[in-house]
Amino acid sequence: MQLCVYCSSSNHLHQRYVVAAQALGAGMARRGWGLVYGGGSVGLMGAVALSVQAHGGRVVGIIPQALLDREIGFLEADELIVTTTMRERKRLMDERADAIVTLPGGFGTLEELLEMMTLRQLAYHDKPIIIVNLDGFFDPLLAMFERIFAERFTDQRYRRLFTVVPTPDAALALLDGFTPPAPPADATASEFA
Ligand code: AMP
Repeated sequence: MQLCVYCSSSNHLHQRYVVAAQALGAGMARRGWGLVYGGGSVGLMGAVALSVQAHGGRVVGIIPQALLDREIGFLEADELIVTTTMRERKRLMDERADAIVTLPGGFGTLEELLEMMTLRQLAYHDKPIIIVNLDGFFDPLLAMFERIFAERFTDQRYRRLFTVVPTPDAALALLDGFTPPAPPADATASEFA
C-alpha cells in the first residue's frame, strides 16, 4: 500500500507533533507501506520521510521545481519526482496514493485535505481519508464540518468522506483493515507493454 501523508512544513512546532509524525512513519514502514508525499525535507514532512526510511520503508517525494529550487526538497527520497507545476504534482500524488492520512498542518495541509475530500464527494476517487486529530488540533475544522452538515451545505451521507482518529497508531490500525482495489486492467497491461 502507498500512503499519501499531508502534514506541516513548519520547523517551529512543539515536539509532540514531530513525535507523532515519526510514529506514523515507523508504523507504516513496519507494515511494508510506502510513503507518497510532497517531497519536502522540512517540518513534519521531513520527520515522516526520515522515519519511514529509518525503518526500512520507501519514500516517494513529488515536488514542484520551484520548491526544489528553494532547497527544501528531500533529496534522499528513494524516488524524487520533480514536476513543472503544483497542479501536476498534486495529480501525481493522487494517482500514486491508495489512502490519505492528514497530520496537523497549516494552509497547505488544509488545502490538500479539502481538495481530496471534495474530489471524493464528486466521486473522482474513493480512497480512504483519515484525519489524525492529535490533541484536538482539528477540532475547530471538525466543528466547521458539523455546521456544514447541520445547515445542509452538504448531505449527511458525505460523513463517509473522512474518518477522524486520535493518533497515528489509530490511523494505521484503521488502514490495516483496508485493501486497496487492484489497478484497472489497462494500467496493468501498460506496465508490460
Ligand atoms: P503547510 O501545511 O502550509 O505547512 O503545507 C504543507 C503541505 O503543503 C504539505 O503536505 C506539502 O504537500 C505542501 N508543502 C508545503 N511546503 C512544502 C515544501 N517545502 N516542500 C514540498 N511540499 C510542501
